[in-house]
Amino acid sequence: MPPRRERKTWTLPSAPGPSLRQRVEQKEREAGLRCCDPSCGIGPSDEDPVPEMLAASIKQVSIHSRSNPGEGAVCTHRFHPACLVSAERVAGWGGEDKAEPHVEVSCPVCRDVGCVTRGEWEEGVSAL
Ligand SMILES: [Zn+2]
Ligand SMILES: [Zn+2]
Repeated sequence: MPPRRERKTWTLPSAPGPSLRQRVEQKEREAGLRCCDPSCGIGPSDEDPVPEMLAASIKQVSIHSRSNPGEGAVCTHRFHPACLVSAERVAGWGGEDKAEPHVEVSCPVCRDVGCVTRGEWEEGVSAL
């Protein structure tokens, strides 16, 4: 008697292309809930979605060129001030010299070096 083939039980595929999780994160990013920081902690957890009203008030900053802080950003990445501050501190950046009008930072994603304004930095510090 030939061995009967076991009926496969259905399991979640371990690596499905762009996962639902990634698509959700992309949507959250578009909505401003999640920034480019890979460890962004402001985005809502699955159990605790942030209302859309609040999303509109979540500000993100980009990293400005050091030589020309008024002129655009060094890269396309944008971060919640608090995410940026914690990422820079981990990486050993971040000016605690409050006399400086700009704080030198390195993009946590692409490592481009630029700066944020003191105001943006302090906003992140106070939101931590
Ligand atoms: Zn963030
Ligand atoms: Zn970048």
